[in-house]
Amino acid sequence: MMRTVYLDNNATTPVVPPVFEAMRPFYEEHFGNPSSPHRMGDKPASAVRDAHAKVAALLGCSDTEIVFTSCGTESNNLAIRGIVERHGKPGHLITTTVEHSAVMNPMKRLASLGYEVTFLPVDRTGRLDLDHLRGALRDDTLLVSVMLANNETGVIFPIDRIAEIVHARKIPLHVDAVQGVGKVPIDLRTLGADLVSLSAHKLHGPKGVGALFIRKGTPWAPVFLGGSQERGRRPGTENVAGIVALGAACEFVEDHLAHYHTETRGLRDRFEQELLARIPDSFVNGVASERLPNTTNIGFRSIDGNALLVLLDEVGICASAGSACKSGAGLPSHVLAAMGLSPEEAASCLRFSLSLLTTDEEIDYCIEKIPGIVERMRRNFISA
Ligand code: PLP
Repeated sequence: MMRTVYLDNNATTPVVPPVFEAMRPFYEEHFGNPSSPHRMGDKPASAVRDAHAKVAALLGCSDTEIVFTSCGTESNNLAIRGIVERHGKPGHLITTTVEHSAVMNPMKRLASLGYEVTFLPVDRTGRLDLDHLRGALRDDTLLVSVMLANNETGVIFPIDRIAEIVHARKIPLHVDAVQGVGKVPIDLRTLGADLVSLSAHKLHGPKGVGALFIRKGTPWAPVFLGGSQERGRRPGTENVAGIVALGAACEFVEDHLAHYHTETRGLRDRFEQELLARIPDSFVNGVASERLPNTTNIGFRSIDGNALLVLLDEVGICASAGSACKSGAGLPSHVLAAMGLSPEEAASCLRFSLSLLTTDEEIDYCIEKIPGIVERMRRNFISA
């Protein structure tokens, strides 16, 4: 059987055994509704409470500031729409040109509804100009939404400095931390974000569950109306097994953060350096910026990234061209375009994202296979 080397962990991660085992009883014996007043509701209700505490412990916030959702996309929509809902009349919003579509598209929708939206540019290394941010803030700015780490390049934004600038004008800050949680330490006691989105399936939990941190006192109102679940902030019968799994996943990644920063980063660096050394005309995007330890986005000049992706798949290597949500649409990466890459350069780039489970031996295999494949493509003029 051909081997599989999975280097697409920014798209999704496998559920690890302790997380899977934690959720199993909530499909079997503890299947009750947490809102039920009888005995079958007890265990699910206390498990949901425990999960609040586990997520809060990872982030350094209060249990009551965590709201469970169905995914990172919902968390982002809920953050943005909840601010708008509370304000009740049009105003100004700020985000960046490199956000995930789960922030970009809600912002574009609001723009079509009469809100003014500023999309801040980034430079060639993926960095925001903080003076530009400062200059964009207005008296009627309702929200600034920036990502913690970019899903395509891994570039990390300086949330602490951004929060200082935004809070100086008493404006709330939403941070899409879907790619950051579990990969970099986050402490909301010191990090001044008011709303933070995360998603279980990016941190070895299951798909279909996420969370939104809403700092106490943030001018936010519920968007969905229904029962009193999640203190009315996100009604609907809880996805108990998923929520339990997200709590377990938070514990798992917290326990492995040090490994991530040494071993995983070491593997990523070796992978990157070896490919750059062995493949002429290759380059790494965002390399001059602070990046997630697991992500590298590499361009291979004159190569069609999508064709390379297919050839890599044939030898069992799973990577990605752009974000998983977009690559199916065959669109050029808006992130790389925002960083100033030409359409040809952007089309030559692939994202490789490692996880805690990635091994030395898997990286050896990739280093052995990828240069030959790129060379053959160039020889055969399979070009962009
Ligand atoms: N935000 C970022 C930065 C992401 O990378 C993703 C997923 O790729 C999302 C939001 C959406 O998360 P979900 O897949 O849980 O909806």
